[in-house]
Amino acid sequence: MSVKNYDVIIVGGGVMGCATAYYLLKFDSKLKVAIIEKDPSYEFASTPLSDGNMRIQFNIKENIQMSQYGMEVMQRFADEFEVDGVKPDAAFRQQGNLFVLDENSKDESYEGYLLQKSLGCEVEWLTPEEVGKYYPLYNLKDCVAGTFGPKDGTMSPMGVLNGYKKKVIQLGAEYIHAEVSQVLREGNQVVGVKLINNEILQSNIVMNAAGAWAKYLAESAGTTIPVEPTKRQVTIVETNLHSEKVLPALFLPSGLYVIHEGEGMFMIGKCFNDDYVGVDDFVWERSMFEERMWEELVAYLPTFDRLKISRGWAGLYEVNTLDSNAILGESPDLKGFYFANGFSGHGFQQCHAVGRYIAELMLHKTPTLDLSIFSPNRIVENAPVFESRRKII
Ligand SMILES: Cc1cc2nc3c(=O)[nH]c(=O)nc-3n(C[C@H](O)[C@H](O)[C@H](O)COP(=O)(O)OP(=O)(O)OC[C@H]3O[C@@H](n4cnc5c(N)ncnc54)[C@H](O)[C@@H]3O)c2cc1C
Repeated sequence: MSVKNYDVIIVGGGVMGCATAYYLLKFDSKLKVAIIEKDPSYEFASTPLSDGNMRIQFNIKENIQMSQYGMEVMQRFADEFEVDGVKPDAAFRQQGNLFVLDENSKDESYEGYLLQKSLGCEVEWLTPEEVGKYYPLYNLKDCVAGTFGPKDGTMSPMGVLNGYKKKVIQLGAEYIHAEVSQVLREGNQVVGVKLINNEILQSNIVMNAAGAWAKYLAESAGTTIPVEPTKRQVTIVETNLHSEKVLPALFLPSGLYVIHEGEGMFMIGKCFNDDYVGVDDFVWERSMFEERMWEELVAYLPTFDRLKISRGWAGLYEVNTLDSNAILGESPDLKGFYFANGFSGHGFQQCHAVGRYIAELMLHKTPTLDLSIFSPNRIVENAPVFESRRKII
């Protein structure tokens, strides 16, 4: 069997893999880049199962800056990713994100608000009365303040993924439908990958863009990352609300979130500490909403006591068990093996900045945005970098 050589092999064709391929080829159109994806239908990949929310409301400077860049890209997305005269439609709906603050979350959020302002973000600090004006359905239970990001919003994750994917194929990336069984190494240097049909693809640069499966890929290379695939469920409910404009996406202090999709439709979700860990359960449970979210929802939004549960789905967060933040950069113990993992539920919005950063590292360019705070070295050093406890998407 002939052995193929590449400049870069990317394992995983989700939004991280495709965005990184895009920046590699943008920086150097002659690069030979392979994206290996085991399931081009993306049935279980996290990207299409995401809520597609993007916000500048973070507490770590670099997380805010990643979103600022993401917002910039979204402004020009249709033009930048046009292929053969067809412009992708990411359906970016800047409905705004409204965070409700209680006594416990107020101080931490105020610090975040000041930091966001200092970085030039559009964000508002709200009194409870102002929160009520933005969200008339909310009875202001527990509310001592609020923050509102008018530019935050939701979009079609598949629209964004397809934009990147089609563009990188046009730019010359090889998109291969195959499963990687092993990342190959010689001593401390990565040298390629083995596919499940035993075919070998060679490269001195391999990227782990395997999302919730990242840990298994790292283990196949003889290394580890603290990323656990964790089941998260989303439920769509229908109410008889007739609102002329789309309401902001609402985030309650307990982590329950309510994203208005237009007309009477809302997307609801919440993370629980006992959510299943593993890659073998994608069953959406109606009882999860009925028994663990509905009562709480009605306590804050009384009008939701009458609704129809339409449908739902389950997907995987790639939870970084050290600090719930991205792990970005070269493996400390395997040269040429790059991580873009562990996004813990806020990765979709970071794909643009992450793709650019990982491509810059691989090509030894000075990063446009220094994201070394998320280096994998912090795992070895046991030096976590924590975001807020509260903003968990
Ligand atoms: C319910 C839910 C809601 C979310 N909401 C948001 C949100 O509102 N905002 C936000 O920013 N983020 C959100 N996220 C998180 C976001 O979806 C992820 O962080 C992001 O999509 C990760 O992209 P990825 O490319 O790393 O992973 P994926 O999209 O999972 O892509 C990884 C790919 O790797 C492939 N793969 C794995 N192993 C192999 C192998 N050995 N060989 C070949 N291919 C392989 C998989 O098939 C998969 O297609 C949410 C996630 C979930 C589950």
